[in-house]
Amino acid sequence: MKDENGMVVVRTVRQLRDMLRSPRRAGKRIGLVPTMGAFHAGHIALMSAARAQCDVLIVSLFVNPTQFGDPSDLANYPRNDARDETVARNANVDFLFVPSVGEMYPTGFNTTIEVGDVTAPLEGAARGPAHFHGVATVVAKLFNIVQPQIAYFGQKDAQQTVVIRKMVRDLNLPAEITICPTVRESDGLAMSSRNARLSGAARARASALYQALQMVVELASETQTNAPPQELARVLNLARKFLAERGIAETDIEYLAAVDPETLHPVTSLDGRTLVAIAARVGGIRLIDNIIVTRIL
Ligand code: AMP
Repeated sequence: MKDENGMVVVRTVRQLRDMLRSPRRAGKRIGLVPTMGAFHAGHIALMSAARAQCDVLIVSLFVNPTQFGDPSDLANYPRNDARDETVARNANVDFLFVPSVGEMYPTGFNTTIEVGDVTAPLEGAARGPAHFHGVATVVAKLFNIVQPQIAYFGQKDAQQTVVIRKMVRDLNLPAEITICPTVRESDGLAMSSRNARLSGAARARASALYQALQMVVELASETQTNAPPQELARVLNLARKFLAERGIAETDIEYLAAVDPETLHPVTSLDGRTLVAIAARVGGIRLIDNIIVTRIL
């Protein structure tokens, strides 16, 4: 699909549909990477994975207002469209879809997708239920606009991947979902558009989040299988203690939880596969991260 004109920036649904008609008819494999911009290496990894597997690569850049509960969080969300355009061009993206809020939510828009139980805990509890309703609705719209064969998401937003996969299954959406591993800074901090807002001191402390998750993995490997629930509580408390020592207080932690990676129900032991997820405020900036602990019995 790439030609001498390079990447095309598309701002309307109609134009994108028009441009995708002929490659779709020609049987080209269409890939979608949904994003909210302020690109970093995590986004670029998704684009590279998609580029390697698809004939036509569409990246959407839309800071979706309906998934932000807190208006100041939305107002402060980092935006850098001009730089993002260059990054996407360098990643060999074919179409950068940058719709306005009015294009995605015209006057009278009034439909919401609610995925159910998996949206309730963790991020759903911390940010409010509207967060994942907003995510699911905008992703469903993007899937309908682009009709990708494959869409790419990052493990960094672990619960989001669960919500999207469930929506795709429940609604028989004809897209395959590929999850890409979390890309990290050299000190382990998960790349995030929000990292740009960390002050120097907060940035230095932020790597403790991933270290705490790694600590859980290490401690899990030392615990007995079929251990009583107190053992899991002990491991998570040690991780919290470590965070406190590194300047991330108990009150800064919104959750540090061990859950089933599919249902997101709390687990009582670190046996089998467990998702350990954390959300914490570091220097006032909300960061999330997660790790999968695998202990085969
Ligand atoms: P965002 O722009 O933050 O909404 O992210 C767009 C996509 O990039 C989502 O699927 C995220 O999970 C993914 N993503 C964000 N950060 C990372 C990261 N550090 N590593 C891998 N994927 C990421």
